[in-house]
Amino acid sequence: MSEKIKGYIKIIEERTGSPTFCVLPWVHMATRPNGDCRLCCVANASGAHSGDHTVGLLKKENGEPANFGKDTPLSAWNNDYMKDVRKTMLAGKVPASCSKCFEEESNGVVSKRLWEMYDWNNDGFDFNKVINETQPDGTVPPVIRYLDLRLGHTCNLKCVMCSPHDSSRWTQDYDKVMSSVKSPIVLKQINWDGNEFNNYWYEKPEFWDDIFEQIPHIKKLYFAGGEPLMIKEHQRFLEEIIRRGYSKEISLRYNSNGLLLTENMIKLWEQFKHVKFNVSIDAESDRNFYIRYPTEWNDVMKTLRRLDETPDNISTSIEVAVQALNVEHLPDFAKFVLGQNFKKVNKHYLAEYQAGGGIFSMHLLFIPTFLSARILSTEHKQRIRAKFLEFKQWLFDNYRQDDDFWVNNPYGWQRWEAILRFIDAEDHSYMIPDFKDYFKNLDKIRDTNIQEIFPELEYIWKSTDFNFS
Ligand code: SF4
Repeated sequence: MSEKIKGYIKIIEERTGSPTFCVLPWVHMATRPNGDCRLCCVANASGAHSGDHTVGLLKKENGEPANFGKDTPLSAWNNDYMKDVRKTMLAGKVPASCSKCFEEESNGVVSKRLWEMYDWNNDGFDFNKVINETQPDGTVPPVIRYLDLRLGHTCNLKCVMCSPHDSSRWTQDYDKVMSSVKSPIVLKQINWDGNEFNNYWYEKPEFWDDIFEQIPHIKKLYFAGGEPLMIKEHQRFLEEIIRRGYSKEISLRYNSNGLLLTENMIKLWEQFKHVKFNVSIDAESDRNFYIRYPTEWNDVMKTLRRLDETPDNISTSIEVAVQALNVEHLPDFAKFVLGQNFKKVNKHYLAEYQAGGGIFSMHLLFIPTFLSARILSTEHKQRIRAKFLEFKQWLFDNYRQDDDFWVNNPYGWQRWEAILRFIDAEDHSYMIPDFKDYFKNLDKIRDTNIQEIFPELEYIWKSTDFNFS
């Protein structure tokens, strides 16, 4: 763990009495696109290693996850699962649901826990007030200040790392892919039951009754998808907040592909305290088309140019999901982004530093595990390290020379080093046959050609190993 991260944890302990405290179980609820309720989006990825995707879900006494199609938000807010997480944190222990944050911290990464704590602290939030309000069994008052809403899976794209869980458009390919794929790991991780999936839970009046009641308490809203800009309930919710007079109290955050951005949406956003719009882009041009299929690059650039001209209360970042297909190209993409001379893309401040070091923000893809950058061969990882170091020199020669970027800034160069540490930490090359099986079948359906777009992966196609993990 880096000295910087140790310093952040020490501050958390001083402020709250517990080094493992995270504010989210006291202020926040999150959904999956099917309405399952989760502690937060990162908690739900903590079971990636074991393949258990129920980690981080707010399980009820009968073991089933609370689901907003059946349960109201307030009925889940103080269930046994939520109470246990709060008690575990106050006792200075790490809840099983939160292992991803703590693993990232030990790898020198500023985890969601750390930046959320920073953000809430910066807004003057009184951590001790909510700790003092917590009853010995973990119960807290029925006040939800922060919601992460994934209102169904309606989406205009079918990214390679998604499945029908996240994208309605993926359903077009699902049966064809799954009938030809043989890898058990792919079959398990992409598995989706269309009959069980409820894409209408967010139309229930009881859900919105609970949520609208919370509007006076809400400070932050986070929308992701599916594609939030396609979902009419998202817009109605914003209009309701404006109508009730609370929009200037509330900050909005998005993860979106941005392709459906409208002038009307920008007008609504102008009425909120702050909007942080993260545009998901994973590489330049054809590589992005392949990963975030079938994105047209001209449309991406049009969105970025428009976001670069938005009012001051709107900040915007490019958000890259770092995975096997794009990790080697991150330096090229960074040079491209820097060459665009954006006025505001990744120029806002987060944790004292420009988000993404002023280039782009990166998060690590853990699931599906067979797409993680950890599956690449040792030789390939060495090549990536060399490319990153070349880029570091280029950056120093052409762009950043301030000490802060190199030494102190966790969103600057330290983030790039953390990516290298992450890919080197474990050898998952045993999943290369699974990776091959998946893309061989996806290419057939989509009429794409991974070998043309990612020639550096030639060694994967040449490998004759077909033993699935
Ligand atoms: S510690 Fe991490 S995983 Fe747990 S609730 Fe906080 S942000 Fe989510």
